[in-house]
Amino acid sequence: MSQCQPRPQNSPLENRQAANRSTAIAVPALLIGIVGYVTWIVVVLIAVNYLIKHQNRHGAGIGIIVLYFIFLFPMASSYLRLLMTIPHPGYIEKGSPTAATPVKPAKEAPPQHNIQASCTSTTVQDGTNETTKKSRPTAPQEPPVTLLDTKAILSGELPPPPGTEQFYSKDVFACDQNGLPIWCGTCNNWKPDRSHHGSDVGRCVLKMDHFCPWVGGVVGERNFNFFIQFCSYAGIYALFVMIVMAVFVAEARSRGNALGGNWIAGLTLGAVFTLFAGGMAMTSIGLALKNLTTIDNIGHQRRVMHIAVLVDSTQQRQPRPMSIDQLKPSHGTEDNEEPWQGTITYPLSVLPDASSETTLPPRTSSPPRTFAILRTHPGMNPWNLGAFRNFKSIMGDRWYDWFLPLRHSPCCKHDRGDSMYELGPDVDRLKVDAGLSSSRSRGGSSRRKHRKHRHHREDSEDVDIMGSTLANVNGVTGREQDSFDSV
Ligand SMILES: [Zn+2]
Repeated sequence: MSQCQPRPQNSPLENRQAANRSTAIAVPALLIGIVGYVTWIVVVLIAVNYLIKHQNRHGAGIGIIVLYFIFLFPMASSYLRLLMTIPHPGYIEKGSPTAATPVKPAKEAPPQHNIQASCTSTTVQDGTNETTKKSRPTAPQEPPVTLLDTKAILSGELPPPPGTEQFYSKDVFACDQNGLPIWCGTCNNWKPDRSHHGSDVGRCVLKMDHFCPWVGGVVGERNFNFFIQFCSYAGIYALFVMIVMAVFVAEARSRGNALGGNWIAGLTLGAVFTLFAGGMAMTSIGLALKNLTTIDNIGHQRRVMHIAVLVDSTQQRQPRPMSIDQLKPSHGTEDNEEPWQGTITYPLSVLPDASSETTLPPRTSSPPRTFAILRTHPGMNPWNLGAFRNFKSIMGDRWYDWFLPLRHSPCCKHDRGDSMYELGPDVDRLKVDAGLSSSRSRGGSSRRKHRKHRHHREDSEDVDIMGSTLANVNGVTGREQDSFDSV
């Protein structure tokens, strides 16, 4: 009976997205209504009717009105600024649906792998992946997920989807266990560092923090600072309302005046929003000090990720040439805790017959760049710059930017030559642990690489010295699925 459904209903994902669209309209309207109601209570009932008209305390009444709007204005302006950014929180462009479609049928007809998450690191289609065993069929209504044939790409049988040059032109980028950038099978595009696929909106978002019903959209890289400002100002505003209401409720009770329901409602709303907005503000500021998003913070202490680090001639450890047959599936084992996982050289070489079969535009020839694939220690945050610099990277370099909801975060500028985001000292330590640099250079190399414009020619010479211009993958040890992407 169940096999004869004429037309399936919406999937849970579609239902959630539809609910989010409704929420995006309803909740901001509700919030504005609540603020209007509180304004009426404080200004009209308390300040005008009670203090000025009934008590004849003009100074107190006018003072409360002035203070009320002083606290209301920054909250309202930051909320408005936040709403203005909701259409563009840092969305990543979607790729072509055919970007990762295999153009060459697999010889052994590998089984189709469905995955639970709509966004994943690349998956080896070799039939041995543990992910396959654990996966469940994807709901038929959910958007199709495009998997990469990692093995074919790394062996040159298939060209990689376009866009890898955005990653290997940097010195460091987040990658999967095989050294490829993280792939979003729903957006059909590579995921820039620190981006996350938001299933609520069906898009990848730079430094996505969360889907916020209070603003009806995603809080991400381009509005996290405004979100912090809004929560902080809302917490202060609500605290002011709570104090005013508590004082005059207590005063009215002591004088034996009858309390209206609106007074109690104002006190309750002030208390509830003080706790809620204040709590959100403190949580968000705490994350900003650690340079983590809410999503990053989930399981952060256990999280292990992979980063590709450009290898140059000054490094102590040299790539070890190995054959592509030694490429391991993604599941890996836990017996190797070493940071060093192997190397990968970009641009990826493509076998002549493979490139002739593809409909993709021909790649431009770039100097080869070899990257070490490093596995981070559990809980390591490569972008942790220290509390104050973390805070400034989000809230602004100048103190008044911390308070004015005008400018986007400094971390939105992606004009660095070395990486998409400024890297912290933990990356230098990881390089030392991996044998890529000596402890003497710890801390210095990162700053040295913070120049905005770099010359790739130097790097090509370095790579030639190693004699690995055609070796795509050397000594890749399969690891667990990148847990960074699984939240
Ligand atoms: Zn995506």
